[in-house]
Formats: sequence, structure tokens, C-alpha cells
Amino acid sequence: MELYKNAFQIQSEFGGRNLFQYLLAGERPVLLDSGIATTPETTILPFMDRLGFDPARLSMLITTHPDMDHQGGNDAMRRAAPDALLACGEADRGWVSDPRQLYAERYNYLRADHGLGFEDQPPSDAGSYCRVDIGFQSGERIVLDDGWELEVLHVPGHSNGHLAIYDRAHKSAFVSDAVHGHGCPKVDGSIAIPVTYYQVDLYLSTLSQLEKLRIESLYTGHWPNMHGDEIGDFLADSRNTVDRLDRCLLRALAGASHGLTLKQLIGEASGEFPDWPAETLELAMFSVTGHLERSRARGIIDFIQQGESSRWKLA
Ligand SMILES: [Zn+2]
Repeated sequence: MELYKNAFQIQSEFGGRNLFQYLLAGERPVLLDSGIATTPETTILPFMDRLGFDPARLSMLITTHPDMDHQGGNDAMRRAAPDALLACGEADRGWVSDPRQLYAERYNYLRADHGLGFEDQPPSDAGSYCRVDIGFQSGERIVLDDGWELEVLHVPGHSNGHLAIYDRAHKSAFVSDAVHGHGCPKVDGSIAIPVTYYQVDLYLSTLSQLEKLRIESLYTGHWPNMHGDEIGDFLADSRNTVDRLDRCLLRALAGASHGLTLKQLIGEASGEFPDWPAETLELAMFSVTGHLERSRARGIIDFIQQGESSRWKLA
């Protein structure tokens, strides 16, 4: 779908959710995200073909953040666009280039202490190793064409190097998974997975940054396209979710003198957010841990490390 002149949204479905990539096709075209390993072959390249766009023209592939559904297709896109440079946030470079490192350090880092995580070896959907050529920090400008440039924003929280792309001329922001509302929706609008930010204070700083920016259209990795007031509502819902989750966890810990395990605390969160589905509830481990770590840094709670039954407890 063409969002505005030469800006295209490429849509497919993964795990019941929409999965979006974006083609910004100026004289030096850029592709934002590459989906899972098969998305280039099944979706992106056929889309470009219908457009009459030669993928070899791509000058840059940008991976907004390290997740298999955003970087898995990098290797396949590189083969289709051998001259394109692959870029991501500098802080995310290791995870974006290597799915094994992504699994070990981002998806399975809670397994030893909490018995929560994913398979050891990345599934084929996660793609294979792909060298990252450029690490963006923030504030870089990418000139697509005379009169059309993109600004690179650093929007951490969901990952430390998460990037957004701001097109000031069109007041459009492409933020991928930087903002979560109260969860990530399925195509039918019901919640597919809980919020999955990792670093609460960085996430709040990202919400502030986006609140201050003039954005008339917001395009994401999985959420519906938003315009005008819908954007402020989404940011407010996201901020409110942070407050509700924080209060709910501290309330639960206040009522448990021996402390609670991460699994028990995720259960408490599901009471506060009943639309988070049971089958994906464990994914709240990342945001719940983010809140607990923040409270620990403030001296409010302690962590008692005891193998898989490690617990959190009011200090
Ligand atoms: Zn995603």
C-alpha cells in the first residue's frame, strides 16, 4: 500500500499479527525491516515486483531493532540487494547480526534464574548471520532524493538501540516496535502478546521524545496505522500501561512477605491486564523484569537468587 508518494507499507501476517516493512523509494531507496527469514521471498520481493521496483536499487536496509520478525530476512534481502548497506542501532549490532546471540542474550537471558525462555537454537524463521555495516546512534540524516530526507531517531526501551525513522517533510514517523500501547494486537484487534519493553525508564524517555515530535502519521511494526489524535491516545495508553503495571507489581509484593517468583508476578500482571492471552502471557517476563529491576535500582525491592525459584521481595 502506498502511504504517500514513494512511501510504501508492505504487509504480511506472522503469528496472527500484522507484520509490516516499509519501502521508502527515492533515488536512493531504503527498506525498513525484513520480516522473518521467508518474508523477502513470500512478500517483500513479490511486492517490489508488482511495483516494477528492482530490489538491486536498494541503497540501505535498516533493521529497526533486534527481533526475529524484523531481522530474519536480512540475509535474503542482502542477496537480492547486494549493494545495499545494512544498518541498525549501534547498541543492537550484535543481536541484529547473529540470531544465536539474539536467542542467548535477549530471548533466553531469564531462563537460568526463572525457568522462562525459548528454544536454545534459533528456529529457521530467525534467519542466519548477516553482517551489519553501519551502527546508527541518533540524529543521522539519510538523503533519499533532492528534497526528501529521513532522520534517524534513537527510541530505546524495547531494545537499547531501537531506531525510528522520522520523515519531517511528511510529518510521518516509522517507529516499528518502539511503542506498545497495552499490548501488541492480532489482525482482528484483540491482544496477541503483552507489552515487551525491557528498560522502563528508557521506554518512558522514548514516549516523551515522540510526544514532543510533530507526528501526523505513525507507522509501526504490527499496530494499525495511526493519524492525528490517535497518536496521542496511543502514547497516553502506553504511559498509563507503565504506571498500571508498576503499581500492580508493587501491590502484589507488598502482600507477599516471602516474596514472589517471576512466574507468580506475571500472574499478578495478568489480573491487571485480563486481555493479555494465556498462551503468550509468559512474554510479559521482559516488561515485568524491567519494572522489577527498576525498583531494585531504587532500593525498593530485593532479588533473592535461588536457581529457577529465584524471588523478588520488598526491601
Ligand atoms: Zn515485532
